[in-house]
Amino acid sequence: MEPFLLNEETNTLQLEKWEAAYPGLVAGFTTRWGGTSQDSFDSCNMGLHVGDVDEHVIQNRRRIADIQGFPFESWTCADQVHGNAVAKVTAGHKGAGRNDLKSVIKESDGLYTNEKGIFLTSFYADCVPLLFVDPHSKAVGVAHAGWKGSVSNIGKSMITALTGEYGTNPGQLLVAIGPSIGVCCYEVDERVMAEVRKATDDWEQVATPSEQSDRYMLDLRLLNERLLIDAGVDPAHISMTSYCTSCRNDIFFSHRSENGKTGRMASFIGWRE
Ligand SMILES: [Zn+2]
Repeated sequence: MEPFLLNEETNTLQLEKWEAAYPGLVAGFTTRWGGTSQDSFDSCNMGLHVGDVDEHVIQNRRRIADIQGFPFESWTCADQVHGNAVAKVTAGHKGAGRNDLKSVIKESDGLYTNEKGIFLTSFYADCVPLLFVDPHSKAVGVAHAGWKGSVSNIGKSMITALTGEYGTNPGQLLVAIGPSIGVCCYEVDERVMAEVRKATDDWEQVATPSEQSDRYMLDLRLLNERLLIDAGVDPAHISMTSYCTSCRNDIFFSHRSENGKTGRMASFIGWRE
């Protein structure tokens, strides 16, 4: 069953099973619906770095924070660079990057915390969102995994950080793999495949030759699932979406299907105070 369920009042996808199991936990993914941005950013663009009107983006972020039960001051985000670095967020970083690009947490594709009242977010238009919760330590995390973040194993970076900081047992960690470009729409060349083969011996399970020679259809979500299991996550604890952001361009922004000129969705997670 699809773990990311559409709430038609808020126009967001919520991880309802997680939220029901752990009161106070909020986790999900935004859609392109319900915002104030115009043209190719129509309408709920979450990214300040894509050429949209800043005021519209901030208004959209305020709406999302509000409907998720967080003050806008708790919205915290990072400068995403397609790497595998993850950063710990404490009360001192709360609110970083919410209003402008200058104040973002530097060069981190993953953020984590175990403090209540911090709303962790990161931004997407086809890349894979990973969401983490450790029910024992209450640690939560977001990680942005495009092909580069996936092959450099940002999921494992997050697990290593959570284990080191909070004593997380990977076998008890819950992970959700969210809406992103599907194997149906993601054709890659040999340059990408060379890195996929280095990342996992099981590469033939996550990529199949496409109709064009020297090209493959790559399943980035399956690749991330494979790497998470290799890092000790219980397969039964992984919730994977079936939404393809490129096929469902009506619901989502898609970098590939809109030739790069588009907005961003946000993944979000946090504990309400
Ligand atoms: Zn597709």
